[in-house]
Amino acid sequence: MESELYMSDSVEKIIIIGSGPAGYTAALYTARANMEPLLLEGAPSKEILPGGQLMTTTEVENYPGYPDGVEGPQMMADFKKQCERFGTRCLWETVTDVDFSERPFTVTTAKEVRKAEAVIIATGATAKYLGLPSEEAFMNRGVSACATCDGALPRYRDKPLVVVGGGDTAMEEAMFLTQFASKVHIIHRRDEFRASKIMADRAINHEKIEIHWFSTIDEILGDDENGVTAVRIKDVNTSETTDIECTGYFSAIGHKPNTDLFTGVLDMDDTGYLVTQADTSRTNIEGVFAVGDVQDSVYRQAVTAAGSGCMGALDATRWLEEQEAVN
Ligand SMILES: Cc1cc2nc3c(=O)[nH]c(=O)nc-3n(C[C@H](O)[C@H](O)[C@H](O)COP(=O)(O)OP(=O)(O)OC[C@H]3O[C@@H](n4cnc5c(N)ncnc54)[C@H](O)[C@@H]3O)c2cc1C
Repeated sequence: MESELYMSDSVEKIIIIGSGPAGYTAALYTARANMEPLLLEGAPSKEILPGGQLMTTTEVENYPGYPDGVEGPQMMADFKKQCERFGTRCLWETVTDVDFSERPFTVTTAKEVRKAEAVIIATGATAKYLGLPSEEAFMNRGVSACATCDGALPRYRDKPLVVVGGGDTAMEEAMFLTQFASKVHIIHRRDEFRASKIMADRAINHEKIEIHWFSTIDEILGDDENGVTAVRIKDVNTSETTDIECTGYFSAIGHKPNTDLFTGVLDMDDTGYLVTQADTSRTNIEGVFAVGDVQDSVYRQAVTAAGSGCMGALDATRWLEEQEAVN
């Protein structure tokens, strides 16, 4: 397979994998430090979206510097333009293999095998949905996977909302939404939550939260004009269905970090997030750095991903300078 690929002779100083806020920010900083970064943005497919998660959303209201808010795709176009201004080369190629066993490292895409002195991984994470066609139909029109991002938008204020899930994330999302919603319904298929007891108790005892045990989501209901108007739930024991009126449905069943490529290569936690050394972006392999949502299961925001991209760029630049000084 590899023999059919173009093998580059040159060695890149830095290859950045992934093109969300973390990857573009890492590119901006390394480009301004004259590291001539190559950014592999991913080739568009069902799984890969150059520009990252914000390409799937409409209004972003909480990124500093955009006082009137900004559409997610516009914001990512701005990020890209800014890092290209300082010479970043951006390519729509998906990384299919890496070899970090020796330096320079090898990074392979469907088109080319490249070498790099340092690699910054910014492949992000993917929010999980149940996979119902009606979820997709009303995406961004009442369907969301991020309460922190979308909960304060006008369509959710003083209206009933639905959250599906039973872990800590679902409890957090539901609690967060109580600030805006008239009522929050949590839909859960079992009779107890997977969440920690303290988080579960908070939700169970909250006056604005109603819990629907032994229930699954059957369908998201709505129309073209209004987006989501209700959610149909089904009792797993009786198969009886009930419609819950709401203007928003939040999927809180978890995220999948995009780390399959690094299995057995880089240290991961038990949910597949890359592990970085305390207060740095360093992975267990010297010269390989991880930034943004791919190593952050807690904050998962554009601004924290961008901040982490900056850290990765500074860590990688300093590390490369140290290598040059030694050799
Ligand atoms: C619907 C929705 C709305 C959101 N709204 C907000 C909001 O309003 N405000 C906010 O702060 N945050 C919001 N977020 C969260 C925010 O989008 C993420 O925290 C942020 O995008 C993470 O940035 P990242 O760069 O780490 O990764 P991502 O944005 O996930 O980008 C990762 C990139 O890596 C690429 N990639 C993956 N694998 C490969 C590979 N093998 N080769 C090459 N490229 C690869 C992907 O295609 C993608 O381009 C929202 C998220 C969602 C899902």
